[in-house]
Amino acid sequence: MTRLIFLGPPGAGKGTQAQTLAQYRNIPHISTGDILRGAMQAQSHLGIKAQSYVDRGELVPDQLIQDMVEDRLSQPDTKVGWILDGFPRTVSQARFLDDLLQFVQHSVRVINLEVPDEVLIDRLLARGRQDDTPEVIRRRLEVYREQTEPLINFYRDRHQLLSVNGNQLLSEVTGELEKVITF
Ligand code: AMP
Repeated sequence: MTRLIFLGPPGAGKGTQAQTLAQYRNIPHISTGDILRGAMQAQSHLGIKAQSYVDRGELVPDQLIQDMVEDRLSQPDTKVGWILDGFPRTVSQARFLDDLLQFVQHSVRVINLEVPDEVLIDRLLARGRQDDTPEVIRRRLEVYREQTEPLINFYRDRHQLLSVNGNQLLSEVTGELEKVITF
């Protein structure tokens, strides 16, 4: 069963690749960023709480995100597998996910999409999302380095990490992913 986490800095192409792969394998693509943007648009309780963090490029507090992910992973469509995109982003979120998944956590594989910083910044500026202003981009990259990058070693030490060069044409990245995800 495919249970995958897409790790990598903002602008690495996680969303695009995760979506393509999820469609191809007919499993849900679970993007915490997309769920938050939906909640903010709907002005739900969660959306209102998350807004100021997202706007500043900060991480939304773990508890809010963890509740959201727990709820999503309890839905029946996830029984056939899933791709998580943008979660976990902190070591404590990763520990939470371990507990949530219990016996199946060892079967999770983590894709690390590697892209140089200067390429990331160009891509994010070209994307033009509301949180893609130069100042917020800088902060999101800093937050990634401080809080998310430690997950690379966390998962590497557990032999769950697969690294892929994200600095290629979209189709080439997809091709490389297909090669490393042999399960
Ligand atoms: P993304 O679409 O993955 O780039 O996420 C957009 C924004 O949503 C991030 O900059 C964070 O503010 C927030 N966010 C998404 N996923 C998480 C997460 N796992 N933990 C904390 N904040 C998150």
